Amino acid sequence: MTIQLYNTATRRKEAFEPIDEGNVRMYVCGPTVYDRAHLGNARPVLVFDVLFRLLRHVYGENAVTYVRNFTDVDDKINATALARKEAGAAGTLEELVAERSDETIGWYHADMDALGALRPTHEPRATRFIAQMVAMIEDLIAKGFAYENDGHVLFRVREYVAYGTLSGRSVDDMIAGARVEVAPYKEDPMDFVLWKPSDDELPGWDSPWGRGRPGWHIECSAMAYELLGDTFDIHGGGNDLQFPHHENEIAQSKCAGHGFANVWLHNEMLQVEGKKMSKSLGNFFTVRDLLDQGVPGEVIRFVMLSTHYRKPMDWTEKKREDCTKTLMEWLNVLQKHGYTPKMVARLKDKGLWVSDAEFMGVLANDLNTPGALARVHVLAKARTAEALVPFAHALETLGLVTDWSVLDLSPSQNDAMPDWVDAVIERLIEERGAARVAKDWAEADRLRDVLNAAGVQVTDVAGTASWLPGPAFDPSKLEALR
Ligand code: AMP
Ligand code: ZN
Repeated sequence: MTIQLYNTATRRKEAFEPIDEGNVRMYVCGPTVYDRAHLGNARPVLVFDVLFRLLRHVYGENAVTYVRNFTDVDDKINATALARKEAGAAGTLEELVAERSDETIGWYHADMDALGALRPTHEPRATRFIAQMVAMIEDLIAKGFAYENDGHVLFRVREYVAYGTLSGRSVDDMIAGARVEVAPYKEDPMDFVLWKPSDDELPGWDSPWGRGRPGWHIECSAMAYELLGDTFDIHGGGNDLQFPHHENEIAQSKCAGHGFANVWLHNEMLQVEGKKMSKSLGNFFTVRDLLDQGVPGEVIRFVMLSTHYRKPMDWTEKKREDCTKTLMEWLNVLQKHGYTPKMVARLKDKGLWVSDAEFMGVLANDLNTPGALARVHVLAKARTAEALVPFAHALETLGLVTDWSVLDLSPSQNDAMPDWVDAVIERLIEERGAARVAKDWAEADRLRDVLNAAGVQVTDVAGTASWLPGPAFDPSKLEALR
């Protein structure tokens, strides 16, 4: 199966060809850890989680390396720490800064876990990669792409001729459109900071340019290089990061001589009344607010995936209600057909856990999650437990079910499978197998009849027998064999 991805850098949908099929590599810009994630911040997490799951499906669970960083050097983290210190908190300012980052990372993990997002392979914290950033900056200075002035190191944007290619803008257009900061230590207002001085109390590191801290952009370039190597497959993030953050990452990495990312993916914004949800506009609510109101993480995820990642979207009450209802119905379909956590585990074990090719094809077409969900609606109409396997598989691939024990949590009262059934049927199948080995055909046939009478469908895959409840499944017929 070929995955098609819309590459921002070429403005085309392209067939995805990994550099190394045995190690597909993806970097996504992570959060600045100064406060709770708002719902907009969850959008890239979910979009790239679906891509991570799809890549793992196509190339293998252990064949994908996904890096998402934590930016834990930032004025906003410092400001919170300072406020705490002024309010009488114990510890140095530096300790309070670390405490704030740790606390925020803990929240982030709890909130994103609740949305069913898999943890990336690596979640580097910027403060642990300062040496690599310093080395990269020194290299850029040596090559003439950066200069030091008064404790600051700046990148000479006009030295990189391809600057602006990702967003398709010229340097002059960007100067006109952006709020570029004019500062006495800059040769050109367009130049951006690689390193800046830090005062004595705030976090800082010794460097050839004095005690200071890195700029935001160099963090991603250095961590991506360290963890993914010279060239990697996919770089992702929200489209608000295209300029200047991603343009700057590209400029730094390319000028350092690295290949950097082949494919650039950008998610559109989550909006509130037509405006980007953001902390600075104050039009936000957090993921935790919703979870605390009793909105399940799966429902938040479902609402997000109902819109294609390259389209802006709104969170609405109506969408929340519709998705809640549909998800309940879908879980009910599985419960009615005898699905239990044990049964799913068994299906996986015995090689019966199969996907729907059409569903996968739609999803692989530039992560068409709304199209994939439309296909799930069709798959949900299957009439037998066996025919529902691709439906259950699709729910898991989208991360709408991450733990099959949900089937136990809200059983549809009358139709739930009693827990003894599994053991009895497994025993009968085993006895039937033993009878066949012993060539005791009469006994094997008798056991088959017992299973048939209870509506159990026995399926053989590669010589291993497994079972599924058939349309006439009636566990009460096995009651006497408990
Ligand atoms: P930040 O901590 O603001 O740098 O954001 C972390 C991630 O969330 C980045 O990938 C942003 O592009 C993304 N992001 C921020 N606001 C929104 C939004 N309203 N909708 C979608 N993504 C967003
Ligand atoms: Zn970044």
